[in-house]
Amino acid sequence: MVELRGVRKSFGPLEVLRGVDLRVAPGEVTVILGPSGSGKSTLLRTVNHLEKVDSGSVSVDGELVGYRRSGDRLYELPEREILRQRTKIGFVFQNFNLFPHLTVHQNVTEAPLSAQRRPRAEVDALATRLLERVGLSDKAHSYPRKLSGGQQQRVAIARALALEPKVILFDEPTSALDPELVGEVLDVVKGLAGSGTTMIVVTHEVGFAREVADTVVFMDEGRIVERGTPAEVLDAPRHERTRLFLSKVL
Ligand code: ATP
Ligand code: MG
Repeated sequence: MVELRGVRKSFGPLEVLRGVDLRVAPGEVTVILGPSGSGKSTLLRTVNHLEKVDSGSVSVDGELVGYRRSGDRLYELPEREILRQRTKIGFVFQNFNLFPHLTVHQNVTEAPLSAQRRPRAEVDALATRLLERVGLSDKAHSYPRKLSGGQQQRVAIARALALEPKVILFDEPTSALDPELVGEVLDVVKGLAGSGTTMIVVTHEVGFAREVADTVVFMDEGRIVERGTPAEVLDAPRHERTRLFLSKVL
C-alpha cells in the first residue's frame, strides 16, 4: 500500500533521511519510534509530498507520489494531481490543525465537498456517521475552540477518514494532549486499526505500539535502525541505540 525506496532528504547541509526503505501492506499498522530529530516527521511528510524527496521514491496504492515516470526520467506532477493524490492519504497532526472558523461538522465535510466534489447530502450523512464513530455526535455544531484537545483530535481523525483514504499518517497524535485525554484518542486509533485501516503512526506511546502495531520501526539519525514485530523490537531489541531509547521512554 505504501512503499518507500531509498528515500533521501536534506535540509541544506543536514541530511535528515539517509536512505529509508519502508513497506506497509494493506490493513497493516506500522508504528515509528525514535528520538527527537531522527527524521520521523520528515519521513511522514514525504509520503504525501509535503516534502519532496531528493532521491528515492514513494508510492501509495501503486502510484508514484509527486512524480510521473517517463523513460528514465521523473517529472513532478502538477499541483492539482498532487492534491488528488493527497486525498488518498489522510494526515493527523500533533496540533490538530482544525479550521477554526468552521464547525466540527463543517471541518469533516469541507474536503469531500471541495476536493472531491461529492454531493452534499451524501457528505453530510458520512460526517454524521464519522462523528458518531469518534464519539462526538453531540459536538457537530460546536466550533473547535469550544472543544478539549482530545475532542479536537478526534474531529481531526474524523476529518481524515472523510476522504476515505488508502492510508492514514499520524504524527504524534497524542503528544500535545493532557495525560488524561490521551486514552480517548488512542482508543479511536485502536478502533481504526481493528477495522483494517492502513496506518503509519509516529508516537512515543510504547504501550500503544505493543498493542496495535503489526510492525514497529525504530529510526535514528535518518535511518531505520531496526524493525520487527512489537515483541522483537520492544522486548528483544538487537541494537544498542534501540535499547538506549527504550530505556528512556519506558
Ligand atoms: P521530533 O520527535 O522532535 O518530532 P522528528 O524525528 O520528527 O523529531 P524531524 O522533524 O523529521 O524529526 O526533523 C529532523 C531534522 O530535520 C531536525 O534536525 C530538524 O531540525 C530538521 N528539519 C526538519 N524540517 C526542516 C526544515 N523545513 N528546514 C530545515 N530543517 C528541518
Ligand atoms: Mg516530529
